[in-house]
Amino acid sequence: MTSDAEPDTAYERSFTVAIDGPAGAGKGTVAKALCTQFGFAHLDTGLLYRAVGKLAMDTGRGVIDEGAAELIARDLRAEHLGIRGLRTALAARAASRVAKFPGVRKALVAFQREFARRIGGAVLDGRDIGTVICPEAEVKLFLTASAEARAERRYLELTAAGAETSVAKVLADIRARDAQDSERKSAPLRQASDAHLLDTTEMDIDAAAAAAAAIVDDALGRAAS
Ligand code: C5P
Repeated sequence: MTSDAEPDTAYERSFTVAIDGPAGAGKGTVAKALCTQFGFAHLDTGLLYRAVGKLAMDTGRGVIDEGAAELIARDLRAEHLGIRGLRTALAARAASRVAKFPGVRKALVAFQREFARRIGGAVLDGRDIGTVICPEAEVKLFLTASAEARAERRYLELTAAGAETSVAKVLADIRARDAQDSERKSAPLRQASDAHLLDTTEMDIDAAAAAAAAIVDDALGRAAS
């Protein structure tokens, strides 16, 4: 959950960077680059929902029950984020299904907020970080890209990890998750009004990371003065 790289900047207070956006927009890569550059710790909040989704599915033998998912979310511990199979498309679908249950979302709030205010700075990436979890974050970024560009990236990631799939299948999955995440009542995916928008459709991920770093650098300067 944390970056092991040597920090360039030691920040002795809390400082939160909230990154939101749809699947495959490059949130994780940008988050890791910021952690390496500034010495912040990283929380991929999607893993929390993936762990709850996968455990709920395993408990229900393929069927997800709302009450059971809520109990699992309440009992979730850091070590659950290391369970096998969380990066699969199946776990992503299960995550998106449990993520619409208000009781599940509520159970995961305290852990995320505590992480966000840790001394030394934190980057959290997800769907509702700038809007619900950390509305006071010092920096808010909203990363997006066309569904086709995101599907292409996810396809390369999944096949590099050994999965057998196709771009068309990944695109259909991404579209289904976009719809589910944006249309749900509880903490839907949306850009906070004070978030910086980075569209990575035409931008390579290093350029997006550099743009994000410039925004963070500026905010760190303001926070220190
Ligand atoms: O980011 P990732 O693709 O791992 O997220 C998996 C799913 O978890 C998302 O599609 C979304 O439904 C849910 N999620 C969420 N809120 C977050 C992070 C993830 O609802 N902060």
